[in-house]
Amino acid sequence: MRDRTLKKRIRLVVLVLAKKISLRLVTTVITFFSLMSCAIAEENKAVEKLPADLLVLGEYVLPMNDETNPSAIIRDGAVAIRNNKIIAVGPRLELEAKYQSKTKIEGDNRVLMPGLINGHTHTAMTLFKGMADDLELMPWLNNYIFPMEGKFVKPEFVRVGTELACYEMIRGGITSFVDMYFYPEIISEQTVNCGLRAVVAAPMIDFPSPGFKGWDDSFAAGMKYVEQWQGKHERITPAFGPHAPYTVSPEHIQQVAEKSRELNVPISMHIAESKAESEMIAKNHQSSPVAHIDNQSMFDDNQVIAAHMVHPNEKEMTILAKKKVGAIHNPTSNLKLAAGISPVTMLLKKGVSVGLGTDGAASNNDLDLWEEIRLAALLHKVKENDPTVVPAITAIQLATSIGARAVGLGKQVGQLRIGYKADMIQVSLDDLRLQPIYNVVSHLAYAVDSHDVVTTIVSGNVLMKERKVLTVDENKLRHSVKAISDKISRELKK
Ligand SMILES: [Zn+2]
Repeated sequence: MRDRTLKKRIRLVVLVLAKKISLRLVTTVITFFSLMSCAIAEENKAVEKLPADLLVLGEYVLPMNDETNPSAIIRDGAVAIRNNKIIAVGPRLELEAKYQSKTKIEGDNRVLMPGLINGHTHTAMTLFKGMADDLELMPWLNNYIFPMEGKFVKPEFVRVGTELACYEMIRGGITSFVDMYFYPEIISEQTVNCGLRAVVAAPMIDFPSPGFKGWDDSFAAGMKYVEQWQGKHERITPAFGPHAPYTVSPEHIQQVAEKSRELNVPISMHIAESKAESEMIAKNHQSSPVAHIDNQSMFDDNQVIAAHMVHPNEKEMTILAKKKVGAIHNPTSNLKLAAGISPVTMLLKKGVSVGLGTDGAASNNDLDLWEEIRLAALLHKVKENDPTVVPAITAIQLATSIGARAVGLGKQVGQLRIGYKADMIQVSLDDLRLQPIYNVVSHLAYAVDSHDVVTTIVSGNVLMKERKVLTVDENKLRHSVKAISDKISRELKK
């Protein structure tokens, strides 16, 4: 009896054990297969990542695409680029998980932000830098610039001068610029070769200038250039460049305005730059420069990029805002030529899109837009006796998002935004002189300079990597610059 009970108990224990073992085995097998399937799913997910051409990282990403909070920063962020455009902006981990990129640029201790926009320059004048300083505008133009241009400005001069300017702009993080100089077709070719984006205005002027006897042939050449380059290259926007109200007659201003409307071509013009200009226009046309240009209907249904705009009155600023005229503030040039201080705070208050420009290197004497950002942030504080005007972020907006609107490229560049052209820069905060870092935006406006830019990208193409410009042969360019500057030096000694 006891034996039978014992046997029964043993059988029961064996049965329970067997059940438990088989259950554990089944559970183990199930767990194993489910883990396997998860791994396979993960692998499939990795394969399904979206393709990108380039992933650019930034410890601080400043997209400038939030109108209500333009200084918003993504910490440890990234931008994904495909087919020359921005396809994503966001946290690095999210973008790395979502996109499979052929190339990646690391962003430790770097700010990733939109490339800077130089709203007014004369690129080839880099070869005249330091030639004549400390003079008033009219004697500077009439005694030095115009005669030297007549002697030296030839296709080779423009080719070399433009390349030198492009090199300097790439080094300093400028990705777009608005140019106005002779041989615009050569400027356009060089800009394409260097990889930058530009609005290139063909110069038009009433009196003899390099290559032209006067208005008729400069206008005809401008028309020919626009016909050849309109829609030819995604990085070049051809424009008309009537020089200024004091060098172009009212009839000729009207002629340009009509053609510009007809062909949908922007206009770049110096307007209201100096007191001497205001006096000349008052004497000859009984008007102020802005009202005089408006009387020729140039601002009507046209995209006008007005360089300088130092002396508009309040009523004229309302007109500029209403007619969507972009005003380009050139603080260094205005200071150097004592042209005056543009009423930038009032222009912005009125709703005018204000950009920043270096002007030509002959009146600057460099193409460093960081200097213009800093001057814009400082100059208006002292002018208005108010340290709260043009705060750091506004000064940076003038060189990026608002500046892009001022030059008519506001829907393409100036922000890190999905669908926009992939134009951006990395600014390194590594340098000991930039420590400590409490506020990145403050550093960008008040402490950073062009040497801190380490990467320049335009249309998704890397033009500068770790401070090395990839699109310019530096030695060759140095020799070409020397060959021309030697001739200019000899002429200056005569
Ligand atoms: Zn200028």
